[in-house]
Amino acid sequence: EKEKKIKVLKQAEEWGVKFIRLQFTDIFGVLKNVAIPIDQLPKALNNELMFDGSSIEGFVRIEESDMYLYPDPDTFVIFPWRPREGTVARLICDIYNPDGTPFEGCPRNTLKRVVAEAKDMGFVMNVGPEAEFFLFHTDQAGRPTLETHDQASYFDLTPVDLGEEARRDMVLTLEQMGFEIEASHHEVAPGQHEIDFKYADALTTADRIATFKFVVRTIAQRHGLHATFMPKPIYGINGSGMHCNISLFRDGQNAFYDPQGELGLSDVAYHFIAGIMAHARALTAITNPTVNSYKRLVPGYEAPVYIAWSPRNRSPLIRIPAKRGPSTRIEVRHPDPSANPYLAIAVLLKAGLDGIKKKLEPPPPVYKNIYALSPEELAREGIGVLPSSLEEALAELEKDEVIKEALGSHIYERFMLAKRLECEQYRTTVHPWEIEHYLTKF
Ligand code: ADP
Ligand code: GLU
Ligand code: MG
Ligand code: MG
Repeated sequence: EKEKKIKVLKQAEEWGVKFIRLQFTDIFGVLKNVAIPIDQLPKALNNELMFDGSSIEGFVRIEESDMYLYPDPDTFVIFPWRPREGTVARLICDIYNPDGTPFEGCPRNTLKRVVAEAKDMGFVMNVGPEAEFFLFHTDQAGRPTLETHDQASYFDLTPVDLGEEARRDMVLTLEQMGFEIEASHHEVAPGQHEIDFKYADALTTADRIATFKFVVRTIAQRHGLHATFMPKPIYGINGSGMHCNISLFRDGQNAFYDPQGELGLSDVAYHFIAGIMAHARALTAITNPTVNSYKRLVPGYEAPVYIAWSPRNRSPLIRIPAKRGPSTRIEVRHPDPSANPYLAIAVLLKAGLDGIKKKLEPPPPVYKNIYALSPEELAREGIGVLPSSLEEALAELEKDEVIKEALGSHIYERFMLAKRLECEQYRTTVHPWEIEHYLTKF
C-alpha cells in the first residue's frame, strides 16, 4: 500500500501534475469532485483530507458533517484531454468517518462489503458492462437538444454516422486512461452509441463505469454534442441499457463453466441465475432507479420486461451468450446507465450469492419470443414481470431483506426517502402528454 502511494507521487511528478481531483460517487450515482493542488497530494494519500459530507445529497446531517476521503492509489490516472501544462489527474476515494471506520453511506464501501462476502465463499465476480448512450446536438446557447440529425442505425458507417468522430475520440481517450476497448459501434436508434470495454473484477468495473460516463460526456462536449445516459430520452425508439455480463471465478477458473453441465453451465451458474431472478423485482429499484427507467422496460425495444432466461433470444431478463470456457457468462439485460454502478453491481452480486447459498433452481429456459406470449401463456410458464414503475420497484425493495442487507440501512433509508419523493413529484407534475391530449378535448 505504501509503495503504491509512493508510485502515485512519482508519477504525478513525472507528468507535471498540478491538480488532483478526488472523486467519489454519491448514493444517486452522481460523480463528485474535490480538486486539490499538487502540494496537498501527500496529505491526501495519507487519508488526512476532509470534506463537508452534509453538502452531498443523502450523505449525512449537518451535525455529523466531517468526512474523510481515502484515495485508492490504484485509481490514479491523468486526464488526457487537459493541457500538458498544468496537468490534471484524479483519484477515486472511499469515504470514512472521523473515527476511521468506513462510512456506511459510501456506495464504494458497500460494493466492497458484498465483494468480501463473495470472497469468503471463494468467488471473484467479473463484470463487463455495455453502456449505451445518445449523442444530441446542442443549441446556440450550448444547451442540449433532442436532435441527432444522424439517421444511422446499428453498425452503420460514415458518412451517415455524425457521432463517429466524437466516439472515436472517446475510445482513444479511454484507451489513454487504461481502458481496454473491445468494441464501439452505432446502436439501433438514431444518435445512439455503445462502447464496450473489457470485463474486470466488480470494483474495478464500477470505478470504470463511473469514469466512463464522465469521459464520454466530457469528450462529447468538446465536439459540441451532449452525451446522455438517460435511459429513454425519446418515445418510440430504443432506450439505452447497460447490460451487465457477469461471471464468477474460483481459483482462477470460470465457475460458471462446466463442459458436462446442461448447456455447458455449472450448478453455480444456475443457482446464480435463479438468485437474480428471485430478487429481480426488488433489485430493479437499484439497477433502474429513475421514473424514466421504466419507459425503457416496455415490449418491442430489445429491453427486457419479463423475468425469464434464455440461451438465445434478447427479450428475457437474462441471456446466456454463446461463448464457453473462460468467457462463460450471463448477460443481465435490465440495468440502465442511470444506475449507481457500485450499488447496481452490489445488488446483482448479492442476489446471485443468495441463489448459491440457498441452492435456488431457475425455471426452464424460454426459447420463444416472450413479447409475443399471451398473459395466459406467461402464467402457464410461470414467467414473472419486472416492475412497471419506480414506485412498484420501491415497494418490492421494501419487502426484500436480502437486497436491503446488501445496501445497508443507511443507504437503503436515504435512497427510499429520496426516490419516493421523486415519484411523488413526478406523479403530481402535469406532463406535456396530458396537455396535448386533454387541454383542448375537455
Ligand atoms: P456479445 O456476445 O454480446 O457480442 P461481447 O463479446 O461484445 O458480447 O462482450 C460483451 C462484454 O462481456 C464485454 O465487456 C466483455 O469483456 C464481457 N465478458 C467477456 N467474458 C466475460 C466474463 N467471463 N465475465 C464477465 N464479462 C465477460
Ligand atoms: N438498447 C437496448 C436496451 O435498451 C439493447 C440493444 C442491444 O441488445 O444491444 O437494452
Ligand atoms: Mg447494445
Ligand atoms: Mg448486450
